[in-house]
Amino acid sequence: MPNPISLQGIPAAPGLAKGHIYKVATQSLSVPRYQAEDKQSELGRLQVATGEAKKELAEFKQKIKDANASSEAEIFEAHLMILEDDALTSTAFEHIENQVNAEAAWVDAVEFFAKQLESIPDPTIAGRALDVRDVGQRVLKHLMGMDTGGIELSKPSVLVGRDLTPSDTVNLDKRLALGFLTAQGGPTSHTAILAKAFGLPAVVGLGDALLDLPTDCLVLVDGNTGVVVANPDEAALTEFSLKQESAGKALQEALSVAFEPASTRDNVVVEVVANIGGEDDAIFAHQNGAEGVGLFRTEFLYLHRNTMPTEEEQFEAYQRTFSHFRGQPVVVRTLDIGGDKEVPYMNFPKELNPFLGWRGVRMLHGREDIISTQIRSLLRASVGVDLRIMVPMIALLEEVQEMKALLQKEKNRLDFEKIPYGNKIQFGIMVEVPSAAIMADRLAKEIDFFSIGTNDLTQYTIAVDRTNSHVAHLASGFNPAVLFLIQRTISCAHEAGKWCGMCGEFAGEPLAVPILLGMGLDEFSMSPARVPTIKQLIRKLSKAECRQLTEQALAASDALEVKGLANKFLSERGISMG
Ligand code: PEP
Ligand code: MG
Repeated sequence: MPNPISLQGIPAAPGLAKGHIYKVATQSLSVPRYQAEDKQSELGRLQVATGEAKKELAEFKQKIKDANASSEAEIFEAHLMILEDDALTSTAFEHIENQVNAEAAWVDAVEFFAKQLESIPDPTIAGRALDVRDVGQRVLKHLMGMDTGGIELSKPSVLVGRDLTPSDTVNLDKRLALGFLTAQGGPTSHTAILAKAFGLPAVVGLGDALLDLPTDCLVLVDGNTGVVVANPDEAALTEFSLKQESAGKALQEALSVAFEPASTRDNVVVEVVANIGGEDDAIFAHQNGAEGVGLFRTEFLYLHRNTMPTEEEQFEAYQRTFSHFRGQPVVVRTLDIGGDKEVPYMNFPKELNPFLGWRGVRMLHGREDIISTQIRSLLRASVGVDLRIMVPMIALLEEVQEMKALLQKEKNRLDFEKIPYGNKIQFGIMVEVPSAAIMADRLAKEIDFFSIGTNDLTQYTIAVDRTNSHVAHLASGFNPAVLFLIQRTISCAHEAGKWCGMCGEFAGEPLAVPILLGMGLDEFSMSPARVPTIKQLIRKLSKAECRQLTEQALAASDALEVKGLANKFLSERGISMG
């Protein structure tokens, strides 16, 4: 019996899995290269191959959309855009003009663009080289008359690879896939996105030792901690089975009471709502017992298309999404483009530091028209809806005042045109920039609510680019500096008689929940799948007891100490979070 091997990677999607591995080979095709004098014929072959690839990608996209996996569909949409971009095909056409055969011309063009992307220090952009190569392989296989289908599993398996591409997984039988493990990649890699979309555990960044594991070896995957054990011994197997059993039971229990309120042992009721990115997520959120929406990311309406969505298109999309939450609050965030979210047709200027650049509310200066149109369509869709409009990236008081003025202007216009809109619309801001948290006492007078965006608040407080896996370990919402800003924001909201929620990932983090409850957070917003578990956790806690934990956490020296305190607090109460 081989010795157990324990590997530590980066947790990328929660959950547990036990199974034999299936190694995904990175197939390297041997590409023919020859002088091709009949340029027309080579051009024609390449056009047919790209046409076939486009058709295939559009079909995948539709198939996935039908299966309600919008984030995966977005990846194929991005692949389609790569193929539709003239730069790649015209470079290949130039090679063909120089009498290079279609296969070699195509591969040279793909490599040229992939290498350009790889040379950019931003890991998100560099990561797109994988997409370009993935699309490149698809077209190449068509040119060479090869099968373009993805992995076909014959038995339940844990997929292992250097990095997994959407093409690898598109035809995957989800009932046979147990989890994903990759040697490379960070928590925002495609593997992580796909795993979350499929509801599978994933660990990334496990290093080359992962690729040395023998084919078919047994592994235990913990997507919560990032620990992977290969060739487990009896003791490891028993411990894992117990963990799986209790996690399965806990999830079933949580689901069975998902529609009950989240009321603490000392009868404090908090709201548990969902972060959504579109109508598919809205349905899933509703099924999981979310009591409304704490963050509707509206970027999806603008991304992966070639023109600005019209007022009418937006109005219809909002109406459709709102229809799932009759009588429940829906917090809609105005457009948060910039940072790592680019919209090519908006012709944004290239920036050296996009996270510190023309992002979110800052668009008001230069493209007020975009925000006005969005506000107008939101107002029109708000009749009979508990709509709460929320503005991202607020750093200054004057930005709040400008947004309020714009909202009033659009209301006045609708009044004048006798077009109805809701009469109870709340106005709030995201607190995700440290200056907003520091100024929270003054900002609180201007708004109806705050929602704390810990993803950005953490990146800006600790100065850690949230897309950079080299420094990811430095960033943590448990850092007492971040906790201090969270507590300040909540207290300032309450002193002004306003409510405060949180829509950053931290709100769905089990160890953070008792600390946040102790701080007095009113609303917890998270990805729909987390809702039942977090509601169940809140029911086991007493707010008064949590307050003591909060005091200790705020006085701690670092994130590790805070996590230790929270772990001890939960285990002393017999609460295990898997
Ligand atoms: C946040 O910053 O915490 C947040 C919820 O917004 P996003 O992740 O969309 O930037
Ligand atoms: Mg943010």
